[in-house]
Amino acid sequence: MYTALRLQRKLKAELKSGAVRITVVTRDPYMTYQPFLPEAAAGNISPRHVVVPLRRVLHQCHIVIGEADRIDHTKRTATVTTLASPEDGTGAIQLAYDHLVIAPGSISRTLPVPGLADYAIGFKTVEEAIGLRNHVIEQMDIASSTRDPAIRDAALTFVFVGGGYAGVEALAELEDMARYTARYYHNIRPEDLKWILVEASGRILPEVGEDMGRYAIRELRARNIDVRLQTRLDSCENRVAVLSDGARFPTRTVVWTAGVKPAPILAACDLPLNERGRLKCTAELRVAGTEHAWAAGDAAAVPDVTSAEKGKECAPNAQHAVRQAKVLAENVAASVRGGELKEYRHKYAGSVASLGLHKGVAHVYGRKLKGYPAWFMHRAYHLSRVPTFNRKARVLAEWTLAGLFKREIVSLGSLEHPRAEFEIAAGGGPPAKGPAPQEN
Ligand SMILES: Cc1cc2nc3c(=O)[nH]c(=O)nc-3n(C[C@H](O)[C@H](O)[C@H](O)COP(=O)(O)OP(=O)(O)OC[C@H]3O[C@@H](n4cnc5c(N)ncnc54)[C@H](O)[C@@H]3O)c2cc1C
Repeated sequence: MYTALRLQRKLKAELKSGAVRITVVTRDPYMTYQPFLPEAAAGNISPRHVVVPLRRVLHQCHIVIGEADRIDHTKRTATVTTLASPEDGTGAIQLAYDHLVIAPGSISRTLPVPGLADYAIGFKTVEEAIGLRNHVIEQMDIASSTRDPAIRDAALTFVFVGGGYAGVEALAELEDMARYTARYYHNIRPEDLKWILVEASGRILPEVGEDMGRYAIRELRARNIDVRLQTRLDSCENRVAVLSDGARFPTRTVVWTAGVKPAPILAACDLPLNERGRLKCTAELRVAGTEHAWAAGDAAAVPDVTSAEKGKECAPNAQHAVRQAKVLAENVAASVRGGELKEYRHKYAGSVASLGLHKGVAHVYGRKLKGYPAWFMHRAYHLSRVPTFNRKARVLAEWTLAGLFKREIVSLGSLEHPRAEFEIAAGGGPPAKGPAPQEN
């Protein structure tokens, strides 16, 4: 989105004259600002405001909603399955192009852990974030109404695997939200909820440095969150999380945030990949050894020219992705007009992470912050980064209103089955089955 946005500004004249056409192939009609997903899960930002509608911002571009299945750069064609392909019955379409910009990001990197594919959930999309929020509140409702202590215990146990910012922020924000929500339940106290963070290495939040990572562990443990370092999830079959240290937790919630790997489309392109499956790129964001193929973001292995370490690549994060996108657009425009290409050069500035409302940790430009100042910085930074003035204004308005009123504690899990009620009314759906009601 950032590349297309910049390109439509840079190539205004060419777009107007019809000499240039920009096509954006995208699975969803919106761009997700992923750093806001933990706040969306906590209910601090509504889901509509963590996404940016592409048709509104890219009004000079041609948007194709679909999945790019294959790219043949030698022939300059992309094979795309659009939303209409299955109904049309014509199969995927072929798009011809002159320049290719490939930025499909990454997907969750999973391991062959028994039960993982059946019971776990990731935390990369707005659907997962909102689904998880609804799920956590629903588990509290189940725990509140069951008479079986084993069901209650499993419902109130939440296991997160992976201590990077996605896992830590998601856990911290949801724990904070659930702790607050517990006050509205007559029979659930915050201490009844069990939150477990499982991390295979000896530290969490490597993005904020060692000191701040240690502070984050202390802060989480002070909230009764069970942080287990040097520990792996061995299995989550039959809804029991078994850890490498021997601990077993019956649970209905396993959230997998243990790293990412490049999007699968990369393996279906005739472009060079490195040993980790990322596209080999030059500092000008060109795919190495090719003409007219460009890449950026999580999928691109771009040399970090600011590092003294030989062969170092830019890490897969939003800080690089957004900045690379701008340089990429300028280089594509320069290439179209026969101008000079620029190198991508950005020294990693550090990171900010939220640990729940008014709590955070930051290490930016050598300055370490914790608690409220870090949390405030996290919000200010991401507000400045979320695209479009429209989204900034809406997010700010939501935060302001949330400061004036009580927190949102509603779970709208039924949104996932919008026809259920009507099916019952129309006599089409089977009535809910269950054991005969017991007397109180
Ligand atoms: C919860 C969470 C919190 C984060 N917090 C931070 C943070 O605080 N700071 C930070 O720097 N980074 C953060 N990150 C990482 C950051 O969001 C990513 O590095 C960044 O989004 C990468 O941008 P991208 O453009 O490469 O990929 P993406 O943003 O993932 O965009 C890729 C797009 O391509 C689409 N796509 C993929 N394959 C296809 C296909 N075959 N056909 C059509 N479309 C396709 C995808 O659907 C997606 O819309 C966070 C990530 C998560 C999940």
